[in-house]
Amino acid sequence: MDQKAANTDLALRTRATRVIPGGMWGHQNAARLPKGYPQYFSRAEGCRTWDADGREYIDFICGWGPTILGYNDVDVEAAAADQRARGDAMNGPSERLVELAELLVETVPHADWAMFSKNGTDATTACVTIARAGTGRRKVLVARGAYHGAIPWCTPSVAGVTEEDRAHLIQYDYNDAASLEAAVDQAGNDLAAILVSAFKHDLGKEHALPTRAFATRARALADLTGAALIVDDVRAGFRLHMGGSWELVGVRPDLAAWSKAIANGYALAAVTGNDRFREAATKIFTTGSFWTAAVSMAAAVATIEKLKKTGGIDTMVAMGQRLRDGIDRQASRHGLAVRQSGPVQMPVILFDDDADRRLGNAFCLELLARGVYMHPTHTMFLCAAHTVADIDQTLAASDEALATVARL
Ligand code: PMP
Repeated sequence: MDQKAANTDLALRTRATRVIPGGMWGHQNAARLPKGYPQYFSRAEGCRTWDADGREYIDFICGWGPTILGYNDVDVEAAAADQRARGDAMNGPSERLVELAELLVETVPHADWAMFSKNGTDATTACVTIARAGTGRRKVLVARGAYHGAIPWCTPSVAGVTEEDRAHLIQYDYNDAASLEAAVDQAGNDLAAILVSAFKHDLGKEHALPTRAFATRARALADLTGAALIVDDVRAGFRLHMGGSWELVGVRPDLAAWSKAIANGYALAAVTGNDRFREAATKIFTTGSFWTAAVSMAAAVATIEKLKKTGGIDTMVAMGQRLRDGIDRQASRHGLAVRQSGPVQMPVILFDDDADRRLGNAFCLELLARGVYMHPTHTMFLCAAHTVADIDQTLAASDEALATVARL
């Protein structure tokens, strides 16, 4: 087999089924990918990706969030290369660790300190552990349907999970203060933490920013009970507000979990916290083989500084608004009821009366065929490398895609 043929999407899938359980795990498993989507990618640059078969897309998934400045950003890559030449996973951290913690404390108003790990799940789990260590209590309130990671206490799967893994979780409904109050009552004097997503971004559901009333009530309930308020900012961090997503509603958490976009694609996660939980954070034992590696930290410093300097969020908002307005106009012209929700830079696009996803899937497949990579049910992501020309090219494709959907 020549090398090129060996690397087609189909060839890679076939080889993978022999050496990887199910061919792939998690949300990248072929059964969970929208039908007709490529599984393998070969290259990425700016806001564009190329699949293993060489097809080019304007990318609205951005590596599922990590790409915030654009793939292969020249300044982030220069900082990473400079650090790589000095050392990455050494016996201990480099000066980048302190530099990055200082930068986070300076950038994020609730943060008096920061700690680092590799995955969002590491960070959400550390937040919960710190809250329990600090309060000496067990119960954690989580919103029904919210995603916080992929280990037994929070994975959406039940396989391999015991009841005991989740024994101390109590559910409430996001943006519903009454249900949060009921959950607080249920926890009684054993409440360690109220865990909230940055905004409601459940798979396949309309997205919604937190209401000020809900956020304020969550803060007040945490204060009243002595529990920690934890914001899971893994998905939204630095896309909504440089100070943390709940700055938009004027509420500061005690602890926040970050990952995805903080290092523009380099593997890194962070926990930020206030002084109330500083001592608890020193008590827990948490570590990992690569958690102090320096390259991703150098990339994070460059990413955060560039986002601040260039107003990256404003660019994403402007481009996201242009996309939303354009699709709204097109949908009404084609007589389609399209519901666009979430912040414009993190949209989800759903169709009315589409429980079986026939319309949403068809829309995305039509876009894919025209060189635009969207997703029918997951939060999408703009990055600061999307330009007016990219959005207008996307809108030319979406106009045709919607025309096709309207005929179904
Ligand atoms: N929390 C949220 C809100 C997420 O979106 C994710 C990842 N999709 C996680 C936690 C877990 O992050 P990771 O996959 O990096 O462990």
